Amino acid sequence: VNTGSKPDISRAKSAELYEKSKTYFPGGVNSPVRAFKSVYGTPLFIEKGDGCYIWDADGNQFIDFCGSWGPLILGHNNPKIREKVTEVMQNGMSFGAPTALENELAELIIKNNRFVEKIRFTSSGTEAVMSAIRLARGFTGRDKIIKFEGCYHGHSDSLLVKAGSGLVTFGETSSAGVPKSFAEETIVIPLNDTNAIEQAFAQFKDQVAAVIIEGIPANNGLIIQDEEYVKFLRKICTDNGSLLIFDEVITGFRVGFEGAAAHYGIKPDIVTYGKIIGGGLPVGMYGASAEIMAHISPDGGVYQAGTLSGNPVAMAAGIATLTELNKSSFYKDLNAKAQGFVESIQRFATARNYRFKVFSVGSIFWFAFTDKEKIQTADDIDAGSMEKFKVMHRELLNRGIYLGPSGYEVGFVSAAHTKVELEKAKRAIFEALDL
Ligand code: PLP
Repeated sequence: VNTGSKPDISRAKSAELYEKSKTYFPGGVNSPVRAFKSVYGTPLFIEKGDGCYIWDADGNQFIDFCGSWGPLILGHNNPKIREKVTEVMQNGMSFGAPTALENELAELIIKNNRFVEKIRFTSSGTEAVMSAIRLARGFTGRDKIIKFEGCYHGHSDSLLVKAGSGLVTFGETSSAGVPKSFAEETIVIPLNDTNAIEQAFAQFKDQVAAVIIEGIPANNGLIIQDEEYVKFLRKICTDNGSLLIFDEVITGFRVGFEGAAAHYGIKPDIVTYGKIIGGGLPVGMYGASAEIMAHISPDGGVYQAGTLSGNPVAMAAGIATLTELNKSSFYKDLNAKAQGFVESIQRFATARNYRFKVFSVGSIFWFAFTDKEKIQTADDIDAGSMEKFKVMHRELLNRGIYLGPSGYEVGFVSAAHTKVELEKAKRAIFEALDL
């Protein structure tokens, strides 16, 4: 039954806050995608969250599938995280000296993860990836890196680079303010193309420090790569003396405790994490074998530091989070729940012959207005289809469902979503698809 568009929710208070925030911050926000430029309306100012729900300044309640862009795998305001953080905060916020909490979180990670022997905490995913790149360059004594069109790795200079024209090209800066000479150290190639990477290695023989890829690319839609392709990347890096970096800032501790590396059964040389390991507080991390990590200062010559790195409050949130994730059947239950959700949405869309696909891995999903069975490169995405997402986003907000405000963004199911909310969300999604 086509129920038609719903009336817009009231946004008076959010709109008022937005007018004010625009006088303080460029675009009124502290991170661009929050500005709602790709969807209808102005940003919602969020007042509180609990479980899988958030409430905005106007008192509207939403079932949230953004989860602060991924960290909140246990939902909002999880009592175990809150209690641990509150307990640790009683002793002070930061010392700039080692604490036992860093050891505790490191132990949780290293003992349960086959892919890192030594790690370093940072304060964001961007810092983790930027440092991993420097480490790869320091370790190999080479300068060039290869990245893929459609992968996002944070906003450091070397990585704000997009493909130029031609299959294998020096990148072009994707942000003003990035020197051309920096971009020339980054080679950008399409995903899922063995020929392109062979050509890149041939063209830049003995110059490539590392190939960096998102464990499962999830920043430009969800562009799932075939296992054979990822295995091919592993081999070509080894054959050429280059390091393979898995940026697992989204996929780490999301698709499983050991992330995409375990999902594919591939050992990257360096892994970066973020988001979930901070349980909602600012934490990033990179790790590798002891041999590679020995190059980081003060042991080695690759400098990397941080005033608030390993911050005790952030470590506490990470410890509380990973302790839950490490319990048996956590991922089995979460992934089964999420898969049930996406499968029934797909069944609905398929039964009605809608041009609509839900791509998903574990508890990550992406709505694509397409009839393609697979989307494996950035070029496979039809930019025009984003108009459809805009409508869906508005209709879902008006039905109490919150998705990230861009059709290129993935959604996340958390442990806090129950059958009740998933049923409600499904009904709203069906209605939005029927429009
Ligand atoms: N790498 C990936 C794969 C990401 O998804 C992100 C952020 O979304 C980053 C790096 C950057 O992390 P942060 O935003 O914490 O700096």
